[in-house]
Amino acid sequence: MQIFLTFDYELFFGDQPGSVKKCMISPTNRLLKIAKHTDCKYTFFVDAGYLLKLESYKLTFPNLSKDLNLIKDQIHDIIEQGHDIQLHIHPHWEKSFYDRNGWHMNTQKFYKLHDFSDQEIDDIVTRYKSYLEELIHRNIHAFRAGGWCIQPFDRLMDTFKKNGIRYDTSVIFNAKMTSGSYSFDFTKAPDKDVYSFENDVLINKKDSFFTEIPISSRKYSPFFYWCLYALGRINPSAHKMVGDGVFMSQPGRKKQVLFNSVWNHVSCDGYYSSVLKKSKTELSSRGFDKMVVIGHPKGMTEYSFKKLKSFIHSPSNKNSFITFDSLK
Ligand SMILES: [Zn+2]
Repeated sequence: MQIFLTFDYELFFGDQPGSVKKCMISPTNRLLKIAKHTDCKYTFFVDAGYLLKLESYKLTFPNLSKDLNLIKDQIHDIIEQGHDIQLHIHPHWEKSFYDRNGWHMNTQKFYKLHDFSDQEIDDIVTRYKSYLEELIHRNIHAFRAGGWCIQPFDRLMDTFKKNGIRYDTSVIFNAKMTSGSYSFDFTKAPDKDVYSFENDVLINKKDSFFTEIPISSRKYSPFFYWCLYALGRINPSAHKMVGDGVFMSQPGRKKQVLFNSVWNHVSCDGYYSSVLKKSKTELSSRGFDKMVVIGHPKGMTEYSFKKLKSFIHSPSNKNSFITFDSLK
């Protein structure tokens, strides 16, 4: 099995974005340490819009200039240690501003690329990608949509082709969320670990320009979510997220998952990491040869660092880890 350990490298969004040190720098350093002296390489999907926003403020706000330098240094460490950097887009940064009170983000009206005009979409994708490429001195060819909002894909298709973005990893088979700022419905996605597509991420069209390598998904029972929520209260030292911000709200979500089985991503964030090993077995039995794990440095907990470490160091996963960069 080929295993992609992927991390969305970003702050939180909304009213409590958290700090660069706690959401990005220190948890990422811990992740790098876990992979050191192993054959495990990660793919970091970097929120390029945030970095460009910091660039625009660096002369006005010394604290933001400091944050930017910390991030750039870390990205260089990531590359130097053989890990991969690819493109993640949260376009709400275009409409965000900073003042003495912190960040002001409009994630209601401008959360996904589709909330912008075709010309703006082309400009955002082109600018973000080339900024990252200049930073890492490498080409980028893989993408993950902010909040998994990749649909409808036909509005992104032309600029992705023009920019040579051939791989997408935003789809979560059978997952659906259309509340709050989120808007995706993958219930009709192909039940596959890799497929090619053209203008619709849900339609497998042979020999097309784009390749989808979906984020692996599985069915979670309500019991799983009762544990997830309870453990955070019972044992916060092991189960509290290291990031000091708050995930954007998903109205109605908690009630839904506590009373119904739901399909969701395979992840190394928090308590999700408890089923990493089990998920691999399940995927194998579905005939899959690829496993894509999503995580966020900000969403790690003491518990999930431990679980991830044992997953990476497990002899049965030796030589299994692969990055998007290594795909040609
Ligand atoms: Zn993100």
